[in-house]
Amino acid sequence: WSSREFSWTKKLEANNKKVFGNHSFRPNQREVINATMSGHDVFVLMPTGGGKSLTYQLPALVCPGITLVISPLVSLIQDQIMHLLQANIPAAYLSANMEWTEQQEIFRELNSDYCKYKLLYVTPEKVAKSDVLLRQLESLHARDSLARFVIDEAHCVSQWGHDFRPDYQGLGILKQKFPTIPVLALTATATISVKEDVVQALGLVNCIVFRQSFNRPNLRYSVVPKTKKCVEDIDKFIKENHFDECGIIYCLSRMDCEKVAEKLQEYGHKAAFYHGSMDSPQRSMIQKQWSKDEINIICATVAFGMGINKPDVRFVIHHSLPKSIEGYHQECGRAGRDGQPSSCVLYYSYSDYIRVKHMISQGVVEQTPFGSGYNRANMAPSGRLLETNTENLLRMVSYAENDVDCRRLLQLIHFGEKFDSLNCQKTCDNCSKNQSFVEKDVTETAKQLVELVKTTGQKFSAAHLLEVYRGSLSQFVKKHRHETLSLHGAGKHLAKGEASRVLRHLVIEDILIEDVKKSDVYGSVSSVVKVNGSRAYNLFAGGQTIKLRFRCAA
Ligand code: ADP
Repeated sequence: WSSREFSWTKKLEANNKKVFGNHSFRPNQREVINATMSGHDVFVLMPTGGGKSLTYQLPALVCPGITLVISPLVSLIQDQIMHLLQANIPAAYLSANMEWTEQQEIFRELNSDYCKYKLLYVTPEKVAKSDVLLRQLESLHARDSLARFVIDEAHCVSQWGHDFRPDYQGLGILKQKFPTIPVLALTATATISVKEDVVQALGLVNCIVFRQSFNRPNLRYSVVPKTKKCVEDIDKFIKENHFDECGIIYCLSRMDCEKVAEKLQEYGHKAAFYHGSMDSPQRSMIQKQWSKDEINIICATVAFGMGINKPDVRFVIHHSLPKSIEGYHQECGRAGRDGQPSSCVLYYSYSDYIRVKHMISQGVVEQTPFGSGYNRANMAPSGRLLETNTENLLRMVSYAENDVDCRRLLQLIHFGEKFDSLNCQKTCDNCSKNQSFVEKDVTETAKQLVELVKTTGQKFSAAHLLEVYRGSLSQFVKKHRHETLSLHGAGKHLAKGEASRVLRHLVIEDILIEDVKKSDVYGSVSSVVKVNGSRAYNLFAGGQTIKLRFRCAA
């Protein structure tokens, strides 16, 4: 798709320079443009900052007719329209919270014989819920004025993904109603299963896929144990590594955002918080102050980020555990869009896992503000969606707990990409440790821990079980007479943290199940560990062995 000369090649190159001010094309841009302009359905996986917008804006400019762009966020759409108008490319958008008269004005223009718009942006619910829009598209189509459909952030179509939005699923209607109009689906994040799901849900035919490496060599990844002094640790990290530079701190709850921002202000940082409970003017004020560098640090829920175009974000810190590796990769991707070295630090504690898990099961994890995901209606997910979310979270836990393998490798495997960890060049914490590893058979410890869960009646927390296993004589242990068990102290000889790693591994492997017992949603939660009978059977009777890698002592 890159080497062939097309009838539009010269026009493309001229407009890329003249209108967009680019001297050349970035990887895959030319290929994607040629494929979509040839009338194919195209699926594009390109990392954040790769230049996806050009792949539909340039064709929109040089092709006759209107390009319909479906994009999830009004703020993102407004940003795009502003850039297009600055480049003298006529574009408009329709959204649900627009005045009716304003919408009428746009429809009038769309119906005129010499419609000036080259691009029309809409949010997905407009397509799913507005018959008026569909009728308008039919009318454009009848006049041969519908050039292509662009689905931005296409991973939102898939329930397997980390940012599923039900309104996106309704987009299949476009291909059903207009089978001859090419669709261009764009995303910065999709695993193989997500890609297949998206292609199917949108009804794409003989789709051409362009995929780029998801590796971001200028980002440095690390995972740090989260202590009670986490914000102090963050303050120290920023002062030592990114003093007066720009960064995002992702927090789990709205309250966390406010608390972390307040503390950082006390430590002298220009910090602010951003979350879905703030009204729209408040949010845009913060965004503006951030783009003008009046604020350096934004403490935000994931409501902040999609469509954030600031090139010089020098660090992305996760104050708590992200919901999935995909989400984590994308959030980290907001750092270093200018290609300069930037840091991604994840503060991890196992108790955060319990908290996120509970929030997911209750459907209260915040997504982007205009998202129409399950959380908006405050509905708890169930069935496959809940399973997927839980599985995604467990993968994130295993990423955070892995102190051995290359972080890039762990992330890229998730996207179905091969990566040689030598190419990491020691830019992740695990690769820069410079230590060798041993693989250890921990089957015996695993069996003892499962046995302990059973003999204590499957009603105690992981922390308590580990205390008993290590031989603690705490009041709580004595209260339940657990010091009298034969397994009390059986793990005394193990290295620090080893039993806990094995126990976590058993949960990740679904041999043990961790059930949330009680919670006050935004506060603390406690859990009990139970045995998953059929999986545990394989461990005891099926001869399953469990091996974990450990770092050699220095
Ligand atoms: P994405 O949507 O993939 O995250 P964008 O489309 O927002 O990325 O592009 C990121 C930045 O790269 C923008 O500032 C854009 O102007 C710039 N850009 C895109 N294509 C090119 C190119 N061919 N040459 C130079 N800059 C480009």
